[in-house]
Amino acid sequence: AVSAFQQASLDLLAAQARQVQADAQARQGRFEQAFEVQRDLTRHLERLYREYFQQGALLRQIERQVSEAEVRAEAFAEAALRDPLTGAPNRAAAMTHLDNLLLRAGNGHPSAAALLDLDHFKGVNDRYGHVIGDAVLVRAVQILTREIRDHDCLARFGGEEFLLLLSGATLPVARRVCERLRAALDTHDWTDIHPDLRVTASFGLTCLNRGDEPTRVLQAADQALYAAKAAGRNAVRESGTPQEP
Ligand code: GH3
Ligand code: MG
Ligand code: MG
Repeated sequence: AVSAFQQASLDLLAAQARQVQADAQARQGRFEQAFEVQRDLTRHLERLYREYFQQGALLRQIERQVSEAEVRAEAFAEAALRDPLTGAPNRAAAMTHLDNLLLRAGNGHPSAAALLDLDHFKGVNDRYGHVIGDAVLVRAVQILTREIRDHDCLARFGGEEFLLLLSGATLPVARRVCERLRAALDTHDWTDIHPDLRVTASFGLTCLNRGDEPTRVLQAADQALYAAKAAGRNAVRESGTPQEP
């Protein structure tokens, strides 16, 4: 029975069979053999316990690795939607956000979008160097993000251009927000980055209408941005008229 159970890898049944064997030998007075079998049994059980605990430890290690891999996967997914320099949401994240707002625009939830472009930014790089230019981008995101609500979105759209998405904002409300952001950049003390530095931005604002395509929104915002630049920069301009509710 012992060898049959062993061959079938039924370790516990093999151990029980050994125990029965040792008991039978003891009853027959064959104490020496009973002792040998009992000693084998003890060794066998020790090995089983060791393996059992090792497997438990291995299992816990695998569980730990799985949860670490899950955390890493989440971090990668999160990083794929962020601009590495400023930490702001990137263009892909902004487009998803815009799609969602456009869906809701059809359900009576008015929202607005603005393209925001730093003024004469090439001059900042040319005069003070690229490192200062990078620091300005990082600081601009900090200033602008402080000024908006959690469910709004300020994304780095490319270069020194940002897309601002204001959820639930009518055009007059969005106009006030853009004006506030424009003033926040204009009045910020930039001298810790460079003593002569001054930074402003131009804003092109548009509202999101029911049935709008994302490209229409971006074109409208871009036209308004162009008008803000043409008006001398450091300004907010808007295009597109809101639909009647
Ligand atoms: P305008 O007022 O008409 O917008 O003028 P501008 O100089 O801001 O516009 P332009 O498109 O001529 O220059 C944009 C500059 O932004 C050029 C480019 O080198 C710089 N830029 C884009 N991305 C980065 C970046 O990641 N870091 C730095 N330092 N500069 C960048
Ligand atoms: Mg610019
Ligand atoms: Mg630009």
